[in-house]
Amino acid sequence: MIFSSLKHKHSIMVKHKHSIMARFSSSFYCRSLHQSTKRPISTHVSDNDNIRKEEIVIVGAGIAGLSTALSLHRLGIRSVVLEQSESLRTGGTSFTLSTNGWKVLDSMGVADQLRSQYLKIQGAVINTETGRQLRSIKLNEDKNQEIRPVERRALLDTLAKNLPPDSISFSSRLANIEKQQDGQTLLQLVNGTRISSKVVIGCDGIHSPIAKWMGFPEPKYVGYIVIRGVADYPNGQPYDPHVNYFFGRGMRAAYLPISPTKVYWFVGYNSPTPGSTIVDPSELKKQTKERFKKWPSELLSAMDATPNDTMILTPLADRWSWPGVSPSGLLGGVVLAGDAWHPMTPNLGRGACCALEDSHALVQNLAPALKGGQTVVEDALKSYQKERRFPNFTLTVMSNLVGAVLQSENTMVCAIRDKVVATRK
Ligand SMILES: Cc1cc2nc3c(=O)[nH]c(=O)nc-3n(C[C@H](O)[C@H](O)[C@H](O)COP(=O)(O)OP(=O)(O)OC[C@H]3O[C@@H](n4cnc5c(N)ncnc54)[C@H](O)[C@@H]3O)c2cc1C
Repeated sequence: MIFSSLKHKHSIMVKHKHSIMARFSSSFYCRSLHQSTKRPISTHVSDNDNIRKEEIVIVGAGIAGLSTALSLHRLGIRSVVLEQSESLRTGGTSFTLSTNGWKVLDSMGVADQLRSQYLKIQGAVINTETGRQLRSIKLNEDKNQEIRPVERRALLDTLAKNLPPDSISFSSRLANIEKQQDGQTLLQLVNGTRISSKVVIGCDGIHSPIAKWMGFPEPKYVGYIVIRGVADYPNGQPYDPHVNYFFGRGMRAAYLPISPTKVYWFVGYNSPTPGSTIVDPSELKKQTKERFKKWPSELLSAMDATPNDTMILTPLADRWSWPGVSPSGLLGGVVLAGDAWHPMTPNLGRGACCALEDSHALVQNLAPALKGGQTVVEDALKSYQKERRFPNFTLTVMSNLVGAVLQSENTMVCAIRDKVVATRK
């Protein structure tokens, strides 16, 4: 028994080593792909009459895009945000923001508008899948720490409503991007609009066309799927503000109250392929409940209290940008921020937080150059990248490794994990 577990463990380690090597070689391969097949710098002289001129264009009205636009606006710098959708993409349930994220929201003057709606998390309880408690952690002892969930809808609405009218151009999907001889970047939209801009900030999310143009590969599926939702309790939800985790073998779940009437939950399970997207929301709920039917009842009641159409299934993916090997995420006056630059798994709950931190660092570096200071724009963008590259890379890798342990199906790995969780000081 022990031998077979060890053998299995070895095969997992070998598999993991191979996946790390595959990541390395794919990034390396991508570098040469980047060098050889990157769209060449255009020598085409544009018909200037039909080209709109802008100083700063942000592509994507998600968290990174809107927070960058708002940080610039607060410093008196105008930008235009291009969003492919007809309105803000306010689906996406809820996420937990940690202290750094709230500090960035404070710097933009919007944190208190959100704090008043969401509960500060006071602790975490980690359980086995049967509900046996492994550990309870207090998160309220350090007064400087702030872990507080926020609904994506509320965050995007709040950022957008603090921007000047017409800052966001909806139904503006980027179709093509090219460098021009004068150093500007030409953006071509699906609706035919052409915009020439000095600075382009790619905040276009995990499947970023701008990252692709720079030579990044598509993010890689990491082997598990997450389904999440926000349960509605119009008469008040019954829980203390704690995160409740449940660890199983190749499966896990969590729920946490986010406001006096709402509870966010998610479940994760291994799947060899990202699978087909289940389009019928009632079918998604039925299958999810069936898969987790033996798990604690609070989780199943939260699923029952969730409007079907707010449930989301996401096959998780990430991309490791090896320093010095992968494309840098900066090309001329075009730079990436948020998931477009560093798609990461949500195991540490840091993607949105990093998007906010990117936006803050980017604007702090860029603003002096745009206001005619000594720094030139390209140096300012380099300095932003230098500041954010290492924390983003580290979190992406750590998040992936934490996910690998939490999703393990190996009995011995799970037993060690539970023991470590239970005894860690
Ligand atoms: C299951 C799950 C749980 C998570 N939990 C947490 C958590 O607890 N805490 C946390 O901090 N993070 C969490 N995250 C991560 C977080 O949701 C992301 O990191 C964050 O949303 C990234 O924001 P973004 O602005 O970079 O990208 P997005 O929010 O994806 O925005 C990209 C925008 O670009 C637009 N766009 C794309 N292509 C184009 C184009 N061609 N032209 C114009 N517009 C375009 C899109 O329509 C979209 O509006 C979680 C993620 C997942 C999947």
